[in-house]
Amino acid sequence: MFLRISRKKSMIYNNKKKLCLIENLDKKLEKKNLYFILNDQIKSKNILKEKNLFLTEKFRDQKINLTQKVPSGSNIGNHMKKPLLMRIGLETTYKNLIAFYKDKLNLNMISTSFFKKKFCFLNKIQKMNFCIYQANKEIAQKKYSFAIIGSGPGGFYSAKQILKKYPKFQIDIYEKLPHPYGLVRTGIAPDHQEAKNVEKDFSELMRKQEHDSTGVRFYGNIQISKDLSFEDLKQNYSGIIFSYGAEEENKLNLLNEDCFGCFSARNFVNWYNGHIYYTEKSDFMSPQFDLSKTKDVVIIGNGNVAMDICRILCKNYNEIKNFDIPEKVLEKLSKNKIKNIHIIARRGLVQSAFTVKELREVSRLNNVNIYVLKSEIENSLNENSQKEMDAIHASERRHYERKLELIKSLNILEKEAQIQEIAKTDNGKKNIFLRFLLTPAKIEVVKEANGINNVSAIKFLRSHLEGKPNNQNAIINKEEEENLNNDISNINKNSQYIFNTNVIFKSIGYKCTNIFPKHLKFDTNNNVILNKWGVVFDRENNLYDDVFTCGWVKRGAKGIVDSTLRDSYDTFNSINYLLEMDKLTPKIPDNKGIIEKLERKNITIFTNEKWNLIDKIELERGSKLKKIREKIINIEEMKRLVS
Ligand code: NAP
Repeated sequence: MFLRISRKKSMIYNNKKKLCLIENLDKKLEKKNLYFILNDQIKSKNILKEKNLFLTEKFRDQKINLTQKVPSGSNIGNHMKKPLLMRIGLETTYKNLIAFYKDKLNLNMISTSFFKKKFCFLNKIQKMNFCIYQANKEIAQKKYSFAIIGSGPGGFYSAKQILKKYPKFQIDIYEKLPHPYGLVRTGIAPDHQEAKNVEKDFSELMRKQEHDSTGVRFYGNIQISKDLSFEDLKQNYSGIIFSYGAEEENKLNLLNEDCFGCFSARNFVNWYNGHIYYTEKSDFMSPQFDLSKTKDVVIIGNGNVAMDICRILCKNYNEIKNFDIPEKVLEKLSKNKIKNIHIIARRGLVQSAFTVKELREVSRLNNVNIYVLKSEIENSLNENSQKEMDAIHASERRHYERKLELIKSLNILEKEAQIQEIAKTDNGKKNIFLRFLLTPAKIEVVKEANGINNVSAIKFLRSHLEGKPNNQNAIINKEEEENLNNDISNINKNSQYIFNTNVIFKSIGYKCTNIFPKHLKFDTNNNVILNKWGVVFDRENNLYDDVFTCGWVKRGAKGIVDSTLRDSYDTFNSINYLLEMDKLTPKIPDNKGIIEKLERKNITIFTNEKWNLIDKIELERGSKLKKIREKIINIEEMKRLVS
């Protein structure tokens, strides 16, 4: 409990409310709890002593040495039996305080920022005033169990945090796919193997299960909500953690955006990563998807997924053959004769979603020239964008400076007409045009002999930025609006905003969905499960005690694996808090019952052992081909191999 003592009135305040006079303090205090009094001047020292409360001396930032203040013959543990009062100088950081008590009292530790952020929240959900409390040592000995839904970084990092503190807890990870690791396997680009290294960390957790029955039990090929219900999970586990990531992507809401040739970036990324659903059966395997006949490609959106796709399209066969791209995909990619890649953003440079690191990597490729248009950069650097760059945090300012420096080092074109000239000329290199302030407006298709509508062009309309700093939107210029409803064929063919192409990638962000609409409240603006620091709300707006979320489905489809690691600390802090407040029930899941239910549905469950077998086969096949891994891209083959 954090209390504040009024200097004048010897009155104790809790947060903002008057609590009691110091004289009446002991009535308010419960034994066994630790109390902090926040003040630098306590006048009523004598009263506190009378009440048998222990008052510490003021201790200074960085130099906490409380032990000398503990009366001889006693130890701090004994003091905990009585309410312990401490006087804390205002300059003392909570961090130091917490660090000091961590070892002494086995307190549940809440990080400084967590404490500051969560104070109100914890008050609200627990209707209590304190957020630093004595850990219940028995928790670690009891048999708690967690079902984690989704085996990507959100799922595995959550498991890791729990097992680090409570190695004996049972953690079952359920996954829709037959294999683990989510986006690490099917999203991170194959030429970014260093980012995929976390797989080793995750696989350790699975292997531990086989060695000593601690660690993670994996249940793959199970679609939660279809194969197992919310009630199944609630009944069987002490807690559930939803970390199933983003299952869909954003839409442009333009006519023809689902026609052949206008592809989802997500599907393309899944394809070259050997996703079991999207590789063999995808459009990209069809003869119509022919990169030898495609000269111009348009990528809508300039986030890091756009950069990944651009890199994969720029690299030649030799540069990508040794990674884990499936052979069938490599064969298609090796025919790539793409010459021009137009990466098009509706907003400006400052708002661009790519990170400096990713664009720099593209700029360093051997056979690539990157161009930007001077007028687009200048127009995007309006007054409010300048304000955005003058960010409060030095790291953010540095980020913008570096972005600007990098852009200045690229080829800067004075006139739009130069783009078409360069795109037409064969300079032996691939050209990347980074475009800004162009909003996608119309997708043109032609009907092929086979009756399929194929994309033939896309039209963009010139836009400008409007809105407050950090909240600027792309608004189509007035003079362009009249073009909005015209057929592309009626618009001046020389317009620089029409791109004749039969390959468009919509790289406009991933989207999370609600797999249990009856049980989980969903924030439809941000497409996340509504939660407070990882604790999930039910349909009636109440926080569950035992349902949590982590990863993209918690905070939106943003950020790299490292961001999810940080996110998992946040969720774990909440889990731990509720555990130690005895809000969760120890449970041993009835796995026999669960498995029988799944078997009745004829589901092949991919367990740790089965995945290990697949993993081994993939690595062996890869080694024969002198590559990292040859992924199995057919689920029937996987089933056959493990049966
Ligand atoms: P993203 O970073 O959110 O970028 C989406 C892009 O699409 C933005 O440029 C956005 O522009 C644009 N966009 C959205 N709706 C649009 C519309 N209707 N019309 C035109 N443009 C539209 O998404 P992402 O590239 O899919 O990446 C997802 C997350 O994964 C990101 O946090 C990314 O950093 C991360 N990631 C990281 C790596 C890496 O580190 N190597 C690799 C891949 C992905 P506005 O800003 O104007 O909306």
